[in-house]
Amino acid sequence: MPAQVLNGNAIRDQIYAELKSEIDTLGAAGIRPGLAAVLVGDNPASHLYVNSKVAACGKLGLFSEMIRPDASLSTAELLAVVDGLNRRDDIDGILVQLPLPRQVDAKRVLEAVDPAKDVDGFHPVSVGRLVAGRPGLVACTPAGCMEILRRSGITVEGANAVVMGRSDIVGKPMALLLMHAHATVTICHSKTRNLPEVIRRADIVVAAMGKAAMVTTDFIRPGATVIDVGQNVITDAAQAESIFARHAKKLEEFRAKGKVLVGDVHPDVAEVAGAITPVPGGVGPLTIAMLMSNTVRAARLRRGARAAKPVAAS
Ligand code: NAP
Repeated sequence: MPAQVLNGNAIRDQIYAELKSEIDTLGAAGIRPGLAAVLVGDNPASHLYVNSKVAACGKLGLFSEMIRPDASLSTAELLAVVDGLNRRDDIDGILVQLPLPRQVDAKRVLEAVDPAKDVDGFHPVSVGRLVAGRPGLVACTPAGCMEILRRSGITVEGANAVVMGRSDIVGKPMALLLMHAHATVTICHSKTRNLPEVIRRADIVVAAMGKAAMVTTDFIRPGATVIDVGQNVITDAAQAESIFARHAKKLEEFRAKGKVLVGDVHPDVAEVAGAITPVPGGVGPLTIAMLMSNTVRAARLRRGARAAKPVAAS
């Protein structure tokens, strides 16, 4: 039986509907949550991501501002930009789009963001709160994966969960969130031995390696839930023909555009898994939804308490 498709767009819409009432409550107290997106240089993929984030702010009625420093700027200059945003009361969330140019010390820049405005959840203070299981701003992609699981009624408590990838922005926070939700968690990476065997034990698989279609049907226990975080653009015809041999529509898309997006999970896995996120339309929409959610939350926590008409903090 084909897997249940976990529709990220529908879940994003649910989250937006819930956020709307919170945004209205804040609005009644004179607060319009604001997001500043710092986009350094002209990386086309980064440009696309930041544009989608700014568009989401517009859709929800949040204030947003895009700051576009030149690609040649120094660490000190970018730190000055961040410092300016830290001081502004109308900015609740600061997002510094990665990757940054090579001459910029990305860690120093991310650590300069006021933790109260750290809507990406990358600051060591946010990471520390997550490790300690204390409330805080959590990295958007893993938080979005948890929303998919929760809102789709997938049982996490007691489940064997395998996270493929140990990056600071996806793999590590994902593993922590699953552990806090009482899963038994295994983290895999490029040095893991017998990878398919380890993954076959999983009730829940989260694939976040950046390796196109690497997770094939033989990795997956029939009925397992598969969350595919990977976003890989394929431009090689032979690779596209091989991955999508049994997926005519995708092949047509490739032939028309000369490129196609594929996750870290092979499309045939949908025939074995119990539930699976599609690419596109799975995890991607949730990453942006959680950024919006973090921005609203940051506004409520930082400004709600001192508004004329106080807004309850959680
Ligand atoms: P990353 O920083 O490159 O980390 C990749 C991780 O995968 C590393 O821990 C690496 O292991 C592991 N890995 C690489 N090859 C492997 C292999 N053959 N077997 C097992 N593990 C392997 O990537 P990332 O930033 O976490 O992103 C991962 C993917 O998610 C990318 O495709 C990215 O585009 C996508 N992504 C999507 C969203 C979204 O909104 N949908 C958001 C963020 C990222 P080592 O640590 O040993 O090197």
